[in-house]
Amino acid sequence: MSKDYYKTLGVEKNANQDDIKKAFRKLAHEYHPDKKGGDEAKFKEINEAYQVLSDEKKRAQYDQFGSAFEHGQAGGGFSGFDGFTNGFSSQGFNINMDDLGDMFGGLGDIFGFGGTRGGKRGPKKGRDIETLLTIDFSEAVFGAEKEISLKKIITCDKCHGNGAEPGAKIETCKTCGGTGRVIKMQRTIFGNMQVQATCNDCGGEGKIYSQKCSKCSGRGVAEEIVKLKLKIPAGIDNGESIRLTGQGEAGEKGGVAGNLYVKIRIKEDKRFMRNEYNIESEAEISFTQAALGDNIEVETVDGLVALKIPEGTQSGTIFKLKGKGVPILQSKGFWGDGSKRGDHLVEILVKTPKNLTKKQKELLRELDL
Ligand SMILES: [Zn+2]
Ligand SMILES: [Zn+2]
Repeated sequence: MSKDYYKTLGVEKNANQDDIKKAFRKLAHEYHPDKKGGDEAKFKEINEAYQVLSDEKKRAQYDQFGSAFEHGQAGGGFSGFDGFTNGFSSQGFNINMDDLGDMFGGLGDIFGFGGTRGGKRGPKKGRDIETLLTIDFSEAVFGAEKEISLKKIITCDKCHGNGAEPGAKIETCKTCGGTGRVIKMQRTIFGNMQVQATCNDCGGEGKIYSQKCSKCSGRGVAEEIVKLKLKIPAGIDNGESIRLTGQGEAGEKGGVAGNLYVKIRIKEDKRFMRNEYNIESEAEISFTQAALGDNIEVETVDGLVALKIPEGTQSGTIFKLKGKGVPILQSKGFWGDGSKRGDHLVEILVKTPKNLTKKQKELLRELDL
């Protein structure tokens, strides 16, 4: 029999995290074992369902694997799956106090596997993020300044990341005396356990603020749309990324920020093809130009450039316009100064004359080339 976590919480399959949290709080409140008419088994079931559905990664695995997931015996086939099942099956009960809100004042002391909470409240490195930017062919060749806007986690501007309401007092945590660690006997639903744990009151920091920041609820970070100016180095190629150190998501509680990777996609240009640092194009000339030679103009990224077509040029001949290609990046992350460039290669296509007049045909026969 497969457990239906959605049914357990009484939410729809497509419920969002807010709905899931709300449903969990309501049910946890109703069935909490310390309450009159509480139900420990039911409470445990609700929590198990919530642990999975509140975590997008676990939820996706649950949606995909269903009952195999439930029994924790997916077998060797799925990497990453073991770690996930262990996440709650070994301890069985890994409740996150923050999700319960303030409605259970004393619950932390009963179920407080402090490590979880401490981990959440301590410094946490910000995630790396990637975004895609499409630029023109010539912007890739000569470089450009672009503005991008993206949604990301940034340090909360109200509390500057410390999670405290401005003006809140910073006090040494009385529970742990400022050490951040406590040893205590805990009554859990599995019996009494002696645990050395991160202090619940201060999350291991040894200090507490008298009031949490009202903007970020004490996390120290917030999600906002941010505009960034970005310098595209001359010579960047399709698929290459520009790394902006520290411009990823902000870390929590003073954690280091992640990096932002801007992946470049170059729009096609009908006139030019890029081959590493060379630019390739085609130029059509007439049968007569090919036979007798001529001076033509070729379109390059620098504008029109004169090219001498020698007498007797064959179709498919390639001429090199030196230094009219793409500036060579010295290395990734280094702004090329544009002094060294690839070449522009022009392939000559000779148009064979069509729809000739009778006179023209006669003349050609006379030539008999
Ligand atoms: Zn804040
Ligand atoms: Zn403490």
